Order: sequence, then structure tokens, then C-alpha cells
Amino acid sequence: MSKATPVTLPEGFVEFYKDVETWQNELFFRLKKKMTFQKQDAIELLQREERPLIEFVDFEVDTEDYSQAFLAFARLVKEKREKAAGFVDRILEMQDKLDYAEMIARTLENDLAFFNKLEEATGVPRNITMLIAQHALRPFLRAFALPFEDSLSHDEGLSWGKGVCPVCGALPSISRVRSHDGRRFLFCEECFTEWEHRYLACIYCGNDEPKTLKYFTVEGDDANQVFVCEKCKGYLKNYDERKGKARSDMFITNIQTIYLDLLAEQRGYGHKQSDFN
Ligand SMILES: [Zn+2]
Ligand SMILES: [Zn+2]
Repeated sequence: MSKATPVTLPEGFVEFYKDVETWQNELFFRLKKKMTFQKQDAIELLQREERPLIEFVDFEVDTEDYSQAFLAFARLVKEKREKAAGFVDRILEMQDKLDYAEMIARTLENDLAFFNKLEEATGVPRNITMLIAQHALRPFLRAFALPFEDSLSHDEGLSWGKGVCPVCGALPSISRVRSHDGRRFLFCEECFTEWEHRYLACIYCGNDEPKTLKYFTVEGDDANQVFVCEKCKGYLKNYDERKGKARSDMFITNIQTIYLDLLAEQRGYGHKQSDFN
């Protein structure tokens, strides 16, 4: 950990997420091998519908594949996060009773009431079941995003340009500014989509007055930044490649900079609901 890190992360935190990413990559590559796809122009669809693709393009997940992913991910959590192991055992004991098709639908809807009910029935804290359900679904979302990736990365006219993922509708967890052209791309850790956004604009409220938009960093590290909006008190982390190394793994960059999220929260900023700007 760099000496500039002002907050101590729980032991093994970054390592755990590196294992998570490796696991997800492996499953994603297996899914990719199985699928046949043709590149599709997302821009045309998005301009017509003005909403994320997942809301109107079929997202088909094989329930058997998902149940295997869910259980494999549960075993990974059991192995790597000792504190959760007892709870994960309970999930594994009930594996035949879980409705995986419903789990997929509820996970996509982020249906807290469903996971609360599951907590009541099983005694397993909601956040553990949700962690497993969501992370197990991500490789499938990445496969869904694949045909659209090319067109989205070339959306130079910012025809989407909103603060939510054009593929799955999730809020981004971080953005980066490219070294060679200074353009800013938001990153979705659910489906790994990157899409362009105005450099100087709040992703939550659309505010673009320079006076009320700023960023802060921690001493000795100019590349990892926190963009904040004084109008809605929203923040988003940003990695500026022009001030550090070009870095392609935004998933790990996001995990390694969790201390910036803690600092942002301490200063009164949060992740707001986007109003689609
Ligand atoms: Zn997404
Ligand atoms: Zn704002």
C-alpha cells in the first residue's frame, strides 16, 4: 500500500477482490467461448430508446450455468473470507431450495425486499447473499455487453453521455481520463462497459459550472482524484492517466482506492441517484 494512503483497509481486502476478478475473468472467457455474437451498433438503439440496453434487449442467462456460478462464487467467499464462512455454509446447505431464475431477476432489479426475506428465512445477512448473487451474475453481464463494446467505445458524439451504464443501467464506480486525448470515460464494474462523458460535468445532476466542480487528491498522488459537485454533493473517483501510468484495469483501481471513497464520505459527499444526465 502506498504511503499516501490515509486509511487502513481491512487485511486481505485488495487481495480478495483480485481473486474475485480472476474468478470472474475465467467464467467470462468460458461464456465467451460458448457464445456466437456479431457486433451491434448500440448507439442507434440507445438514441431510439433513451434507456439502458438491458431494459429492452433480451438478456438470456442459462439458469443452470448461473446456479453453478452462484455456488462456485459462494465457495470462493467461504475460502477467502473467514468471517463469512459460517454463513456461506448455510447458503450451500440450501442450494437445492434456491430459485435461481428468480435470483437472477431480483438481482438485476436490486430488489432489497427479496433479499431481506431471504435473510429472515436463512439467517444469512443480506449483504452476503447479495454479494454472491451479484458477483456471480457479472460475467454474464459482461458477455451481454460484448456485442456493443466497440460502438460504445467510439461514441464520439456523446450520443449517450449519461451518468448510468448504457448497457446495464448501473452507476459507474470510477472514471478515467485517457492519456493520449484527455477524454473521460466512465467505468461500470457490473458489465465492464466504458463510455464517454463530458470531462467537466457532474454525472449525477448534470451541473457543468466550473465554479462548483472540483477535485481533490491525497498528497503525493495526483493521478487518483475525487471529482466532487458542490451542487448535489455527489462524487466520483477518477484516474487521470496523464498524471500516472496508463492503466487499463479499472476494476482493481477502484478497489485499491477505496480510501478515497471513505475520504469523500467523511467530507460529506456521496453517490447520488443519477437523473440520467
Ligand atoms: Zn454496466
Ligand atoms: Zn451534481
